[in-house]
Amino acid sequence: MMKIMAYVILAVVVLGLFVFAFSVRNFLRNNKIAEASWEEYKPEKLENLGTVKELKIMPLVDHYTVNDSLAGEPGVSYLVSAGGKKILFDVGYNLNNEHPSPLLRNMKQLGVDINDIDTIVISHNHVDHTGGMKAMKQHTFLLSREEVDLSHVKAYVPEKMSHTTAEVEATPGPKKIAEGIATIGTIDRAIWGMGITSEQALAVNVEGKGLVLIVGCGHQKAVRILERARDLFDVPIYGVIGGLHYPVEESRMKYNLQKIFGTGKLPWQKIEKQEVLEAVAELNKTNLRIIGISAHDSCDWTLDKFREVFRDRYVDVMVGREIRVGQ
Ligand SMILES: [Zn+2]
Ligand SMILES: [Zn+2]
Repeated sequence: MMKIMAYVILAVVVLGLFVFAFSVRNFLRNNKIAEASWEEYKPEKLENLGTVKELKIMPLVDHYTVNDSLAGEPGVSYLVSAGGKKILFDVGYNLNNEHPSPLLRNMKQLGVDINDIDTIVISHNHVDHTGGMKAMKQHTFLLSREEVDLSHVKAYVPEKMSHTTAEVEATPGPKKIAEGIATIGTIDRAIWGMGITSEQALAVNVEGKGLVLIVGCGHQKAVRILERARDLFDVPIYGVIGGLHYPVEESRMKYNLQKIFGTGKLPWQKIEKQEVLEAVAELNKTNLRIIGISAHDSCDWTLDKFREVFRDRYVDVMVGREIRVGQ
């Protein structure tokens, strides 16, 4: 009996090692592919983007909230109001698969009506942006556990995804989606255990100011998002709002998940503080007038570094506090 148990344990260990080695090999291969696609892809200019007079970003889901009556979670959903458009940028996490979800509860508290939203943009197909594990696995997006009618909504998604009621269009390449508003298209990044993640960011051109880039998890890397925006538009970059995935000290998700997944590295390779400082310095070279980092995938140490450098140009990203640019 003891001998059989020993064989079973040995078999499990060997299988585990085999699976781990396989996942490392896959990551390295995907990393090569993602890096090559970045090097090879040279986007053409996106002409005639136009402008909006004013941009308002109301965080509906994020880690920090302005008060305890609003729900915080390690996910992202921002209501972007610009040029008469009302865009829901990502749809939160809904970790406990609730109905109504934290997103719907916060919307109600903040007086946001789903019927007023005309557009949804999904940055990338990860649980904290598509409304949970079920949505991610099914390549869709869910605002709550129960169906929410989105038949009046046009959705721009980063890869092949579908929805039961919304009209869905994949935008792997840059595309103007309304006057003054465009997706910069996807940038690929190998994520250990999750294949290649294609993530898009939104660019809003505010009259007399410049481009404000709205970012989900920031797996693309901040410097590449800025480079893509410069390649696409002859407009100065005015601001960056959203996630950049720098959980160097703590993770907002349990079991340090964000320090293992989503880093673009192998699981034992940490994001170093030096990398954050370099990113801050690089962003500071761009004459940004407004910057706010999402706490959903970055730790407080990281947020403090951004605050120290950008000072009065730094804004806190908190559920319930609107960020305004223009007019
Ligand atoms: Zn995220
Ligand atoms: Zn992500």
